[in-house]
Amino acid sequence: MEREITVLIIEDDKYISNFICMSLKQEGYRYIKTSTGREAISLCYANNPDVIILDLGLPDMDGIQVIEHIRSHSEKPIIVVSARQEEAEKIRALDMGADDYVVKPFYMGELLARIRVAVRKSEKTQGTELQSIFQKDYLKIDFEKRMVFIDEKEIHLTPIEYRLLILLVKNRGKVLTHNQILGRIWGYEEGGDANSLRVFMATLRRKIEKDTTNPRFIITEVGVGYRFSDE
Ligand code: CA
Repeated sequence: MEREITVLIIEDDKYISNFICMSLKQEGYRYIKTSTGREAISLCYANNPDVIILDLGLPDMDGIQVIEHIRSHSEKPIIVVSARQEEAEKIRALDMGADDYVVKPFYMGELLARIRVAVRKSEKTQGTELQSIFQKDYLKIDFEKRMVFIDEKEIHLTPIEYRLLILLVKNRGKVLTHNQILGRIWGYEEGGDANSLRVFMATLRRKIEKDTTNPRFIITEVGVGYRFSDE
């Protein structure tokens, strides 16, 4: 690892917290840990960590509030750790600006993969990402000309399909909730029409995916939203 990456772990379960810290250390990350929301906020100010891992169920504060505080001064990736029964909270956390989530119990390998994606993404947005061409496998997008190619052959997308694709590609690796996508594409208020989104997504997939039952690009996050694969 060329540069030391600092991860802030906000988790009140000592066992999980220690396990995460050990694994991060093995992988060569620097880490800071805390078990309370209040301390997390000040540690975040003081240390400006590169990635934040946040357990939603904290003893002193609602995890959502922690996100609000952090987002008021930092755009660094936040990966939420939630329990199975915190489904609605998890979606709220993403809507509030968290980047990703893992559900307990999770495999350490999964969390580490999410951290790698988050670091990559934030380094990309810090650097200038002004490329006018995006290419991944057989999919190519020319942003300037607003053209999309499959195997170098141009395909036709409707304006909404194009905007959907661009939104997902620009946020690749990050899960976008139904609400976020609806808001960005249609400007709907909360509670927008997730069904029509599903329909648009299905037609978009038919145009860009070679195997829609096993999508290469647009991954469904069941009950949450969609993610453009960054693998
Ligand atoms: Ca907890």
